Amino acid sequence: MRAVIRRGGRLVLDSIAEPEPDKGQVLVKTLACGICGSDLHALHHAPRMAEMAKKAGNVFTMDPARDVVFGHEFCAEVLDYGPQTERRFKPGTRVVSVPNLISPTGIETVGYSNRYPGGYAERMVLSEPLLLPVPNGLPTDHAALTEPFAVGAHAVASASLGDGDTAALVIGCGPVGLAVIAALKARGYGPVIAADYSAMRRKLAETYGADEVVDPTIASPHACWSRMGIPASLRDWRIRVAGGERLKRGIIFECVGVPGVLHGLMEAAPPTAQIVVVGVCMETDKIEPYLGITKEIELRFVLGYSREEFARTLADIAEGRIDAAPIITGTVGLDGVAQAFEDLGRPERHAKIVVEPGRA
Ligand SMILES: [Zn+2]
Repeated sequence: MRAVIRRGGRLVLDSIAEPEPDKGQVLVKTLACGICGSDLHALHHAPRMAEMAKKAGNVFTMDPARDVVFGHEFCAEVLDYGPQTERRFKPGTRVVSVPNLISPTGIETVGYSNRYPGGYAERMVLSEPLLLPVPNGLPTDHAALTEPFAVGAHAVASASLGDGDTAALVIGCGPVGLAVIAALKARGYGPVIAADYSAMRRKLAETYGADEVVDPTIASPHACWSRMGIPASLRDWRIRVAGGERLKRGIIFECVGVPGVLHGLMEAAPPTAQIVVVGVCMETDKIEPYLGITKEIELRFVLGYSREEFARTLADIAEGRIDAAPIITGTVGLDGVAQAFEDLGRPERHAKIVVEPGRA
């Protein structure tokens, strides 16, 4: 079958062996698969990812020296079943799944495995117990984006938004930032202020329901805090709270993931703010702890999502609380994947490109 393979730090379209479903696994036809920023990163920096995962004590089984077929944001169609399966869905059923695969030797990540192909291949194997059927009528490419939107759902669920007395600032409106905005609005949180240097991304942030969109070259995204009556210093915060005032708390979602952003946010954040780090920065970065101390800033790092958050995100998309359509700025066949990776490096033109392996 045809697949786009990461081979020697490049993407090549080639033929690979058909995957065969092992026990508990299902053979599926890949219908659509989103290209993720992590894939762009893994194309060039896979050894660094492997090294960092090892440092963090995570199992990262991908060997960057060997072939890998990326693709973890997929929607697929059931073709056939391996041994010891319940055959829960009849062939032809469209399904999505968290990108984990239970294999005889342990859990592999679909899209970052040397042994099993990800979604940039015509066919894959998936684990039957992890399959979720796509609700009737939901377009396939929208269902495929359950995964990236689930990242936003988890970030929002992890933030201290509980009592509603909060304001959310989203820094960076690429696919991660947009997923955060979508999840905030789906859960009824606000106001949501969003900032990005790209006009196209600011427009998308508006489409996803941001209440205010800021171009950082024109105004500081942090001007919102004083407008909401949040004092600039911890001392003033304490005086006013002691006087019986109920003040809003600033929740900032860092969705950029490049060195220097975290420091800048700690500098500009209002006292008691929580910074939720969703953007994936793979480099060593510098922060000034004293800034955090003098404002009692809380840093919260997040990764991925739970199976429940994934399932709820699918329902959010299917039931119209999240519209997956606007984020899709391009669709390609397997022969267009390498170019799509290039194009995604230019954020002015694209947010999410979906691969359809069956497309001619
Ligand atoms: Zn992803």
